[in-house]
Amino acid sequence: MNPLVRFLFVIITVLVLAVFSGCREQAKIDCLNEEAASLQQQIDSLKACIKNAENIAKNTRIVMDTVRAGEGPFQVFSRLKLLVSHGDEDLGKVVLAMEDSVEFKLRVGETFYLMVDSNDRVQKFRYANSPITIHLVEKKESDFIYRRIDKPVYKRLSIYEGVLELGSTLNGILHKVGIPTRMVGVVSGVLQCKVPFPLAQPGDRFRVLLEDSYNMDSVWVAGKVIYAEFDSRTLGHHEAFRYEDPDPRSSYNAHYTEAGDALIFDGLRYPLEHLRITSSFGGRVHPITGKRSAHNGIDYGAKTGTVVHAVAEGTVTVSGYDNLSGNKIAIKHRDNSVSWYMHLHSRGVGVGAKVSPGQSIGRVGNTGRSTGPHLHFGFKNAAGAWINPASKTMIATPKLAGERFNRLKGQVKDIRKEIELTLAAPATKVNDTTDVMVRSRDIPSR
Ligand SMILES: [Zn+2]
Repeated sequence: MNPLVRFLFVIITVLVLAVFSGCREQAKIDCLNEEAASLQQQIDSLKACIKNAENIAKNTRIVMDTVRAGEGPFQVFSRLKLLVSHGDEDLGKVVLAMEDSVEFKLRVGETFYLMVDSNDRVQKFRYANSPITIHLVEKKESDFIYRRIDKPVYKRLSIYEGVLELGSTLNGILHKVGIPTRMVGVVSGVLQCKVPFPLAQPGDRFRVLLEDSYNMDSVWVAGKVIYAEFDSRTLGHHEAFRYEDPDPRSSYNAHYTEAGDALIFDGLRYPLEHLRITSSFGGRVHPITGKRSAHNGIDYGAKTGTVVHAVAEGTVTVSGYDNLSGNKIAIKHRDNSVSWYMHLHSRGVGVGAKVSPGQSIGRVGNTGRSTGPHLHFGFKNAAGAWINPASKTMIATPKLAGERFNRLKGQVKDIRKEIELTLAAPATKVNDTTDVMVRSRDIPSR
């Protein structure tokens, strides 16, 4: 039986009994009347509550829109505005309420929700950019109030170690040691900040400490590279530490060396995917002339047709052919240095083209004076002299100082401790489909 109905039944029974049992005492009747009145009040308030809830459901509607490829918040908000008659006014206030708190980094498929009342006025705005963070803006009287809801998470630290192999790509090796696909690009980016990978050698070693966050349903939420180490016979020993500023939105949140040098990506991208240097920069005996000569670049062995990438952003200044270099491309960078790509099978960009780092610009070939398909990769400094591409960096790196540097020193100590503890943790399978093992431990949320 409905509790409300049961309630009424009891009261009526009590009243009926009171009357028909011939209750003689007026006080008793008054008391019962009072009780009945108070119960009636509670019933009315419950009814009002139900009515209110029904009204909300009946008089509101949910409007939503989803982020499409290449869109920013502006595009999504513009479409939402068209769906609500007071959109311009209300959504303007919603955006104002969120402005200082929310940084929109949209992914395709993310959804913005609006709750709108019967007058087509926005009552609530909801946007969740991760399974654990919900941004809510609610109308309170005439104001819109922002609130962030964080769901609980737990974190897992894992250590991955590996060795570069002949003919493998860095990404391929990172996959092989069990680093989740979603994190391979991030790890590779951190490593490439400090190490000129075009010169990395088979046998060079790396170690990475990853932090993954999961929500309470064990759904992966986010990943971070806490530490990366690269140890090479020719390129030396490099370490990168993740610095966390007290302000989570600070641009100082990034990777640094122990000395506080920022590891903003300033090196060169790969001109080719594979690590196979057949001749490095400096003196050598020329394979065709037999004469001892200076080698003005690095040769990479690769099959004809392998894609060649621009190593940094710039403008194409040469795209042509000569008998020595064959098909060649030169790209001028913002510091007036120029990268050169020679013996190409084909050229994919013309003079004047703007290229981005990693963009495909042509294909490996055997044109000009060449003994087999390979890429000759060279670099000229702003003065026009050939330099070793491995020594090239694009911008000066900023440094952490003062209080921030002191904080980094403390965090470096903590990270070294975490590495020690994680290395001592038992190894488990990376996932069910592989025998690759990884050492991990779950830690309480920091
Ligand atoms: Zn060469």
